[in-house]
Amino acid sequence: MILDGKKTSEKILNQLAEKVKTMDKKPKLAVILVGNDPASEIYVSSKEKAAKKIGVGSVVIKLPEETDEKTLTDKIYELNNDETVTGILVQLPLPKHIDKNKITDAICPKKDIDCFTPENVGRLMQGREPYFNPVTPQGILMLLDEYGIDVKGKHAVIVGRSNIVGKPMAQMLLNRDATVTVCHSKTENLDDIIKTADILISAVGKKVVRCKMVKSESIVIDVGISRDNNGKIVGDLDFDELVNVVKYITPVPGGVGPMTIASLMVNLINHP
Ligand code: NDP
Repeated sequence: MILDGKKTSEKILNQLAEKVKTMDKKPKLAVILVGNDPASEIYVSSKEKAAKKIGVGSVVIKLPEETDEKTLTDKIYELNNDETVTGILVQLPLPKHIDKNKITDAICPKKDIDCFTPENVGRLMQGREPYFNPVTPQGILMLLDEYGIDVKGKHAVIVGRSNIVGKPMAQMLLNRDATVTVCHSKTENLDDIIKTADILISAVGKKVVRCKMVKSESIVIDVGISRDNNGKIVGDLDFDELVNVVKYITPVPGGVGPMTIASLMVNLINHP
């Protein structure tokens, strides 16, 4: 069965639009985009489109590639103090001369809509509510919820340990009583570990997981987004082969990507 992220995200966005109509003070998203990375520009425009669709405000602050750390942090402080701004998102990746941690640290945790700040990550690690949940992992859990999939007691294997996907995904699954294994580029016997997964989440950006490694009847989430030799957007996994083997699978595109956007909008509406 296909876990349809496109359909589910549309449903969530429609529900949020109804909720926004009842809000006296509409939330507002501020996105900072540094440089001209074409993929980042596409991601930012889909966030703007979603904000428009649900009827909340959004502002995109475009800064040139050569922007220095001080200019960027000053901009963030300005947005922290702007009462009309509910959530601040700094689109990654940042140019190499900018220290990502310094930028993250500048964001007020109560406006840290991506859950990047140490305070929010710390809260998540302690099993307390962060002010905002990390968007991609939250989007994945929203999709599982939509299909009535309970992760409790299941063995979830995550391939990838980034701060954006792998690590917060592990913690959120743990907080929901799953048993979690996190794999990465140094993991030995990856095949054997993947074979034990009831829930497999691939967040690598390349084809590491092969079809023969995946347990039949498992639940498979493909977070990866990359382009094949023809420029077509593809995931980490071979969807056409796996769809006949596993119980549930997300497509790419149309799986985790739209759920990430919906999850961001959920955060915007549920801001502290
Ligand atoms: P990163 O590049 O930060 O992390 C990739 C992870 O994959 C690392 O932990 C790395 O291990 C691991 N890895 C690399 N090679 C192997 C290997 N041979 N075996 C096992 N593990 C390996 O990526 P992100 O987490 O930021 O993103 C992952 C993918 O998800 C990308 O394609 C990205 O575009 C996509 N993405 C999609 C989103 C969506 O909304 N759909 C949102 C965010 C990301 P190590 O740590 O050892 O280097």
